[in-house]
Amino acid sequence: MKVIEIITREKPSLSFEVFPPKTSASYESVCAATEEIALLSPSYMSVTYGAGGSTSDYSLAIAANLWQKLHVTPLAHLSCVAANKAEIDRQLKMLKEHGIENILALRGDIPAGQEKESLEYHYAYELIEEIRNFGGFCIGGACYPESHPESANSFLDVGYLKKKVESGCEFLTTQMFFDNNILYNFMYRIREAGIQVPVVAGIMPVTNPKQIKRICAISGTALPQRFCRIVDRYGENPAAMEQAGIAYATEQIVDLFANGINAVHVYSMNKPHVAAKIQNNISHILGR
Ligand code: FAD
Repeated sequence: MKVIEIITREKPSLSFEVFPPKTSASYESVCAATEEIALLSPSYMSVTYGAGGSTSDYSLAIAANLWQKLHVTPLAHLSCVAANKAEIDRQLKMLKEHGIENILALRGDIPAGQEKESLEYHYAYELIEEIRNFGGFCIGGACYPESHPESANSFLDVGYLKKKVESGCEFLTTQMFFDNNILYNFMYRIREAGIQVPVVAGIMPVTNPKQIKRICAISGTALPQRFCRIVDRYGENPAAMEQAGIAYATEQIVDLFANGINAVHVYSMNKPHVAAKIQNNISHILGR
């Protein structure tokens, strides 16, 4: 099934994300986590694509398994920054052969020391055009409520986002955010700019505060004071932090659904118990 059909239904959608292992040693444990999350029957599941394509075989295998054995719609991430056109063509053929119909098309982070001019793909919209010309896929893209870290300003960022959508992007998934007002403000700005595609809100339940502070510093995601207080109080107690992180994420999701955002994607980080707790917390809201 196409993700666009799922997220435009009247019923709210809740999806989860898994990431592939870096080495074969942890492949089985990632597959086991994927299966456990799939048993929750989420609206769909996304599988990330390692920077530079290093883990692309695992990503493909996990996405194929989701569809063929676990009967959950997969959204395969695909990044182009380290690829050439022949490699992208190869990836698209393999995705199609495995019955995968949905791609989140990304540029990826430019490797340190690499000149952008030396790359075959410079921006995600070029990949999106390529996938659209290939045909048959529902294409999503990434968006940044607090602007992409490379952007000179949010006005330019939204302008480039519009170009990306016009290239063939049918829906957008947001970078994580911890203050819903930032998302509501972003929604207003993109709709004003004429971007009309559905937006899936990306929510990260924080269970590891050290990791999240590092990610937020790189991505430019703001940590509200209310959230920082929680980390200050519970950050050294893993069980309490996990409970607080799930409660915070749940509150964000309830507020998003109540304010007209109909699709939420949880960055579940290969943690089935976190995914399950969030889903249980909102089971009646999801109509289950
Ligand atoms: P783009 O949309 O190309 O934007 C990159 C920058 O270029 C932005 O600053 C934008 O304003 C600017 N820009 C865009 N178009 C133009 C233009 N025409 N002219 C000038 N400037 C332009 N990375 C991975 O490696 N694997 C993953 O699986 C992965 N999944 C992700 C999922 C989500 C939901 C998100 C939000 C990010 C994900 N990333 C992933 C990270 C992503 O690859 C990086 O943030 C990357 O730096 C930008 O990718 P993009 O597709 O948003 O790029």
